[in-house]
Amino acid sequence: MLTSLPTPGFSFEIVATLGHARAGILHTPHGDIPTPVFMPVGTAGTVKAMTPDELRAPPLDARIILGNTYHLYLRPGLEVIEAAGGLHGFAAWDRAILTDSGGYQVFSLAAINQIDDDGVTFRSHIDGSEHRLTPEVSMQIQRVLGSDIAMCFDECPPGDADAQVHERALARTTAWAKRCRIAPRAPGQALFGIVQGGIDTARRLRHMAEILPLDFDGHALGGLAVGENLADTYRILDEVAHLLPAERPRYLMGVGTPADLERGILAGIDMFDCVMPTRNARNGYLFTSGERVNIPNAANRLDMGPVDPTCPCATCKTHSRAYLRHLYMAKEILYSRLATLHNLTFYARHVARLRERIVAEGTRA
Ligand SMILES: [Zn+2]
Repeated sequence: MLTSLPTPGFSFEIVATLGHARAGILHTPHGDIPTPVFMPVGTAGTVKAMTPDELRAPPLDARIILGNTYHLYLRPGLEVIEAAGGLHGFAAWDRAILTDSGGYQVFSLAAINQIDDDGVTFRSHIDGSEHRLTPEVSMQIQRVLGSDIAMCFDECPPGDADAQVHERALARTTAWAKRCRIAPRAPGQALFGIVQGGIDTARRLRHMAEILPLDFDGHALGGLAVGENLADTYRILDEVAHLLPAERPRYLMGVGTPADLERGILAGIDMFDCVMPTRNARNGYLFTSGERVNIPNAANRLDMGPVDPTCPCATCKTHSRAYLRHLYMAKEILYSRLATLHNLTFYARHVARLRERIVAEGTRA
């Protein structure tokens, strides 16, 4: 079943379903994206330690990466991105890009000076300079970045915020979504709406009823894995994800572990992003089909086997745990590259395996 999305050039095809889980293909002007998909995070216009060729090469074969509006706006700045003709050209990435709105980073990284119903005034975490982000400014930045998928500017309260804070954030997020929806966009740029509401199911559903009529190309669940209990994250996923419109892509923002991805997929989520595989790689943690490997561990000192014998990545086919441990201990640059390639390949294969299961055991759409 193929459905055209509101933005020309985008369509979403459901190939098979298994319970709430779906295997699909998101068609974009920068290529087809089999879903469920994990999107590597390219915070500052680079997936740290990876070249575009490495990201594109099978078995990793990344079809979409994420760029961060907040970081790219502060550095290198819009003038530079605009001179390059957008982020695709600047980063030499010819496949799809999703940009966040900058909201999450403003609320988590910057020194907030003022939040009001119009937007947020903050100081840069880099040089302390003062800036103001509003729905219109966020959309203007994303327009210059020229991402394939832009995200609505939203307010994401901490997981332990009280009800009053959540209610105010919800009202703002809805008002800001309406302003983002009518703001100018780059040609062929889709826009996703974000459902907030913390871990209160009724509040989530109420907010969903406000966001869905705005006719976005896809829908995201925001404000999960922001400090709440994992049981609450999973409960909200189970109770809410499958109620988002079935014919449009569903995106769980900023989550998570391989187990979280599996739970999300079973709950009906199609898209994920998280810094975990790339950041953990650089910090010495490698995901495998067995136990997670802590590479500096002394047990790896004389281990001439690969990180994961079942992994087809170039790191595992070429190098031993002992060599990776040596590179890590010696703080060699190559360590981060080899480790990142492995962890991203693990995530891509983890999601692809779940997709194959949905196709093999599920109902053809
Ligand atoms: Zn590997």
